Amino acid sequence: MKAAIFQGPEKIQVMEWKNPVCGDDEILMKVEYCAICGTDVRTFFHGHKKVIPPAIIGHEITGEVVEIGKNVKGLLKEGDRITPVTSIGCGHCRLCKKGLYNLCHDTKALGYFYSGGFAEYMIIPEAAVKQKAWVVLPYSISLLEASLIEPLSCVINAQNYLQIQPGDAVVIYGGGPIGFMHAVLAQASGAERIIMLDPAYGRLEKFASLFSNLTLINPLVENTVERIKKITDGSGADVIITACPAKQAQIESFSIAAPRARISFFGGLPKDDSVISIDSNLIHYYELSVFGAFASNRSDYQKAVDIISSKKIDPSRFITEVIPLKDIERGIRMVKDGSGLKVVVKVQE
Ligand SMILES: [Zn+2]
Ligand SMILES: [Zn+2]
Repeated sequence: MKAAIFQGPEKIQVMEWKNPVCGDDEILMKVEYCAICGTDVRTFFHGHKKVIPPAIIGHEITGEVVEIGKNVKGLLKEGDRITPVTSIGCGHCRLCKKGLYNLCHDTKALGYFYSGGFAEYMIIPEAAVKQKAWVVLPYSISLLEASLIEPLSCVINAQNYLQIQPGDAVVIYGGGPIGFMHAVLAQASGAERIIMLDPAYGRLEKFASLFSNLTLINPLVENTVERIKKITDGSGADVIITACPAKQAQIESFSIAAPRARISFFGGLPKDDSVISIDSNLIHYYELSVFGAFASNRSDYQKAVDIISSKKIDPSRFITEVIPLKDIERGIRMVKDGSGLKVVVKVQE
């Protein structure tokens, strides 16, 4: 088969690779599309501790089941169109027993520990089979559209905590695909006002034109706190989401929060620079809630399927580029420089 083999920082090569063989407890899928995630970009440039080269990365995967191991009974059938779930837990810890595989201490993910989707064929490993780590796609969703399910599921996991309601003012730091997914989902929940900020303002403006009713702020030329207070009649934002790896966004979120605001630190900070200082009295007196969000689980994937098939979001707004596997490095660089919003690799020729 053809596969994009990650060989170390800034080295990825599309080449002939051995076909994966389906074990008795595994499932073999033919990958149709795999979208490029921000973490794939980071892995490409800097490596990743769970990705040991030579490796096949990519976890925003859609395709078709082509072979089922002989011990796997009654779960899927050949020809089923699926999106696999990325996080695979150990299966026996307290968190896994609750279905919180994304938070298992020993989580092993597809496209990191296990081979991922930038290859024509991929194994769903035994641990994933035990967790039924996939969603079956209805025919109302194309496989291309389904490449948004994984990132959307992560956004859904975060917004589960935020309880966005009609009338809410929502501020989103970060104008990448995740920021826009947060915006569209918040609109679907009835948010009255969506305010997006990004110092890469040209890119923010360009992609915001694909969506409607977004208020944009350039934090490099405007006083963000004053502007948001003004927009919200002095009260501040009800929901704040930091969809970027920026300390400043996390710190500032407390200054723009309305009483009872819900804050999501969606994006992590660089691990050697992740300490911030906050005035905890703001949390106390304003009754603020601060939530984390990391990856997602099957139930979030299922909600993403439902949202896409009910047309609450339009995937074509997000997918700005579809490229062949041989151009994967160009695609990664497009995501990095912000010239594409969601760049999807069409794996099969
Ligand atoms: Zn992703
Ligand atoms: Zn576990």
